[in-house]
Amino acid sequence: MALEDSKTQVDLALTREGLKGLAHENAFGGIPSFLRRRYTKDLTGVDVAITGVPFDQAVTNRSGTRLGPRAIREASSLQPFDPPYGWDGYSPLEELAIVDYGDLAFDYAQTGSFPELLQAHIERILAADVAAISLGGDHSITLPILRAHAAKHGPLALIQVDAHTDTWPEFDPKTRIDHGTFCYTAVKEGLIDVARSVHVGIRTVVEDNLGIEIIDARQVHERGPSAIAERVRTVVGEAPVYLSFDIDGLDPAFAPGTGTPVWGGLSSGQAAIFLRDLAGINLVGGDVVEVSPPFDTGGITAVAAAHVAMELLCLWGWPRR
Ligand code: MN
Ligand code: MN
Repeated sequence: MALEDSKTQVDLALTREGLKGLAHENAFGGIPSFLRRRYTKDLTGVDVAITGVPFDQAVTNRSGTRLGPRAIREASSLQPFDPPYGWDGYSPLEELAIVDYGDLAFDYAQTGSFPELLQAHIERILAADVAAISLGGDHSITLPILRAHAAKHGPLALIQVDAHTDTWPEFDPKTRIDHGTFCYTAVKEGLIDVARSVHVGIRTVVEDNLGIEIIDARQVHERGPSAIAERVRTVVGEAPVYLSFDIDGLDPAFAPGTGTPVWGGLSSGQAAIFLRDLAGINLVGGDVVEVSPPFDTGGITAVAAAHVAMELLCLWGWPRR
C-alpha cells in the first residue's frame, strides 16, 4: 500500500466517491464502517447491503451479541487493503457495489414486535433488488431474515455452520424468541427445503433433525473441509442458498467470544477452506451471528466473523463475475 493513500484516505465511510474500490485509510483510525464501505441508507445502484442486527435477548446462556456488529465492523478495517486471499484475484470490493446499511433500530424493551421489525428491515433491502448480509446478534435473528428471503426466493437451501442444529422444538413460535429453535420454526413454516439443507460442524445431540443432513465436526476433522464443501455443494445443487454462520461453529480456541461455546469445533483455517470451496453455489443471502465481544479475547472472534462476512461477499459475487 502506498503511504500516500493512508494520508489522503480518511473516513471513507463518509467521503468515498464511488461504492467500489479497496480502502487504504489507517486501519486503526476513523469511522469503522464495515470494510470501509459507505455508511448509508441509500440503496441506489447497490449490489449488497451489510446490516447489523444488535439483538441478544434470545440467548440460553451468556449474552453480549448486541455488541457484535460494532466489533465485527472494527475488526474488518484491515481487510479492504487487498483482495481476499485464496480467490484467484477476485476482488468483490472492487467489483461489487457494497454499502454498510447500518443497524436495525428497535425498542430493546419491546421484544414481541422485534421479529416483524427485522423482517420488514430485510424486506426493504430485498425489495430494492439488493442482497443482504447480516451481522448479529444472536441466532434468533435468522428466522425473520429467512422469512424475508423465502418471500422473495421461495424455499431456500440452508447451509448452517454451527455447534448446534437449532432444531429444538419451538412450542410457541408466535410469542417466543429463542436462538436455539429458529431452524425448527423455519422448517415448520416451509422457509427452507430440508432436502437441500445441511448442518456443518455440529457437536451437540439432537433427537430429530427434521430431515436436514448433519455433517458433524468430527467428519470435518476426519474428511477435511474441502471434501465437506464438495458434499455440501451436491446437497444444495442449483437452489437459492442462504448461509448462516454461527461463530460457535468454530472451536472456542478460535472463537471464545460467544454465548454457548462447545469444544471440538472447526478451526478458522478449516472454515476458510470450507467457505472458499463452496464457490459456485447460488448464494442469495447470509449472516454471521453469535459474536459476543465481552467474552472475546484479543478480538479474535470478531476477526473470524469479519472474515466469514468477506467470504459471504465472495460467494455471492463469484457466479456473477
Ligand atoms: Mn450455536
Ligand atoms: Mn446457532
